[in-house]
Amino acid sequence: MTSLFLHNTLKREKQAFVPLDESHIRIYACGPTVYDRIHVGNARPVVMFDLLVRLLRHHFPKVTYVRNITDVDDKINARAAEEGIDIAELTRETTKAFHEDCAALGAAEPDVEPRATDHIQGMITMITSLINKGHAYEAEGHVLFQVSSMADYGQLSRRSLDELIAGARVEVAPFKRDAADFVLWKPSDDNQPGWDSPWGRGRPGWHIECSAMSAEYLGEEFDIHAGGLDLIFPHHENEIAQSRCAHGTAMMAKYWMHNGYVTVDGEKMSKSLGNFTTVADVLAKHPGEAMRYALMTAHYRAPLDFSMAGVAEAKKALDTLYRAVADASDDGTPDQEVLAALGDDLNTSNALARLHELARQANKGDAAAAAHLKASAGLMGLLQQDPTVWFQGEAQQDDAEILAAINARVAAKANKDFAEADRIRDELASKGIALEDGPNGTIWRRI
Ligand SMILES: [Zn+2]
Repeated sequence: MTSLFLHNTLKREKQAFVPLDESHIRIYACGPTVYDRIHVGNARPVVMFDLLVRLLRHHFPKVTYVRNITDVDDKINARAAEEGIDIAELTRETTKAFHEDCAALGAAEPDVEPRATDHIQGMITMITSLINKGHAYEAEGHVLFQVSSMADYGQLSRRSLDELIAGARVEVAPFKRDAADFVLWKPSDDNQPGWDSPWGRGRPGWHIECSAMSAEYLGEEFDIHAGGLDLIFPHHENEIAQSRCAHGTAMMAKYWMHNGYVTVDGEKMSKSLGNFTTVADVLAKHPGEAMRYALMTAHYRAPLDFSMAGVAEAKKALDTLYRAVADASDDGTPDQEVLAALGDDLNTSNALARLHELARQANKGDAAAAAHLKASAGLMGLLQQDPTVWFQGEAQQDDAEILAAINARVAAKANKDFAEADRIRDELASKGIALEDGPNGTIWRRI
């Protein structure tokens, strides 16, 4: 019997994970809206749900992990207009950058990565069904979900229907019957992306995308739906409303998992507050694996205060672990205590503490501990590089930068730009690199 407990937001408690079909686990996570590079706050669910999927794959024979790409959204339209580029180009480039960031973080690709724009027909079909069943209505080119048509709306976020219908905080449009009703489809003007539909040319609302794509690849009911804490309401609440009402099911997903915020000095990291660090900014200074480790130092549901110093600490911790597996065999199996920690709602800090315990044993010559360490870290997506490469990587990166600077200085001298040549020499000197010009070119040494 597999020991796996997960905190289910729907029930507000940690529960034993009992799959709908143990021969095939199905999990969906909301993916990025591709208009900008992701920041550390966006990286947290990428890493933590990658870890969850790795753990599920260890325990079960088949897992299908779906994570979507939202490539139709008003934020995308606005950014493309701002930069004067084509929407398709913006979403293509941003998706490519997202994939690079994920790879650097050691996050395996999902089994399916559907793009919203490839699934418009499925969304139209679902909206049509909601209208036919009396859960949605058309008004001025929009289609809205009628929240009052679903008696138990609000279970995930625990908001009462009366409260929501009265809700002054929800955006009010004149064509809405109730303030809480939300958009399934909206009209597009000539400058906005749009698709033909029974309600005229338009585009989908955000929530319907995930309902349509999860149903297509995972079925009407599946095991786990995951995302950030800020998605509980309205996004996930509305996904549940759409899916359950369209399919006539008692649930959309059995377990709802939400990761906590990444904070900076105690405040939520966000685009709007401007206090964000992009993953690319971190990767310019530290290996992606150090960032992955740093994200695992806190429990995924707790706030995680981010700092570059924290990533540097993670790098040092990884150095310790890499030293311990230098001669480890590849035949080890994951350690039971690591599995137990991860099985306890992904208690990564306990799992990491156990890795260090194994490292201490390995350093005393315990070969079995070294093999367990390597296999357990592998399960967490850590210690996958050759230790020699891990330790040389940094030095090689430095060397490459020094050689590039020397070449730039040679070029400056050839152009008789001696001021620039001297500037480069001084800059290297300030970093502790001395140059010696000789008959065979320039050699350098650390001082
Ligand atoms: Zn979603």
